[in-house]
Amino acid sequence: MSHAYEPARVVALLRTLAERTGGPEGSRRLAWTPEWLKARALLRESVAGLPVTVSEDEAGNLWVVLAGDSPRTLVVGSHLDSVPKGGWLDGALGVMAGVELLRAYAQGPRPPITLALVDWADEEGARFGRSLFGSAACVGTLDLDTLRGLADKEGQKLPEVLKGYGVELDRLEGARARMRDVAAYAEVHIEQGPVLESMGKGICTVTGTKGIERERLVFRGQAAHAGTMPMPMRRDSFRAAARFALEVAEIGARHEGVTTVGHAQCWPGVVTAVAGETRITLDMRHIDATHLAAMFAEAQDAAARAAAAEGCTVTWEHIFRIPPMPFHPLLLDAARQSVREVEGHDVALPSGALHDASEMARQVPTVMIFSSSIGGLSHTREEDTPEAHLCMAADAFYRTCARIVTLVADGALA
Ligand SMILES: [Zn+2]
Repeated sequence: MSHAYEPARVVALLRTLAERTGGPEGSRRLAWTPEWLKARALLRESVAGLPVTVSEDEAGNLWVVLAGDSPRTLVVGSHLDSVPKGGWLDGALGVMAGVELLRAYAQGPRPPITLALVDWADEEGARFGRSLFGSAACVGTLDLDTLRGLADKEGQKLPEVLKGYGVELDRLEGARARMRDVAAYAEVHIEQGPVLESMGKGICTVTGTKGIERERLVFRGQAAHAGTMPMPMRRDSFRAAARFALEVAEIGARHEGVTTVGHAQCWPGVVTAVAGETRITLDMRHIDATHLAAMFAEAQDAAARAAAAEGCTVTWEHIFRIPPMPFHPLLLDAARQSVREVEGHDVALPSGALHDASEMARQVPTVMIFSSSIGGLSHTREEDTPEAHLCMAADAFYRTCARIVTLVADGALA
């Protein structure tokens, strides 16, 4: 490759970021806080000497653009925001790898296409519960009415807080103009799971992000006295929910997907009463839409049977849904070749977590590269990755981007 991309510089930038915005409890770059601006100040500082333009769009995304011969643009990015007490690499790896990409290209001849690095605003949604905020704004999938009603734990409303950071909900639509010349999107991220480590690998290609089906189930029976109601005469809603929880785990395993009952609550919720009503949440994910639909159908069946077995009823409330987002075949080829060059294998995995790339993949050819995560841990201060794997991920990311630049310049993605 013709440019001087130095993965070690990416790690150095990440360490500086951790020093400035981390602490004994972990990273604290919560979006829409002064600490988040401190992280962004480092980003601005790190591109200050480059021939780039820096700007913010209507959704608060920070763009750093290196102009090329053509306005057609390869966008790379991720997010500097973190969950409270988060890790030092989640999101930050992709942004700092992008800084190094711009630096490397700025050293060489003017690139044939334009390169843009974006630090997406509020990927985590840790404060107001709406993740992928900035990237969703750019592709137009945010629901303004929902946003207007969101508030944080202290009761501060999202529209007011964002106004303090120059973001007005009525003007969000303007961010979509940023997509006009975008030809492709690439992102490098930590896996946040244990699979690569268990395979003894440092990096891989990401085939896409899993589709998600998120529901709330309400099992209803009859509350009764824990001492006087005989076992065979009970209509215990928790027992019904428990039967379902065990069965839905088997559904996930059978389809090689994942199913999670992450929250359960009983009423009256006292030690001396049979649970008259039990509410549980269900999160199901799969990379294949057919499997995901089958899992959903089987779960509905299982819930009805579990309810009937305990003399209860069950109703479903929809929470959230996103289809699987398979990445682009030509970009996947570019990533696979790059991973092979850097680590000598062809491992490709789906992402179980959503990323800004999930939103971008709705509109433009997209691909991702993963690095391993030690112990599979993320969203905690223990989050870490061997430095050699971070360097390999940055290297494979750079090589992938170089290949995408050629694809775009040759009109292969038009
Ligand atoms: Zn992330």
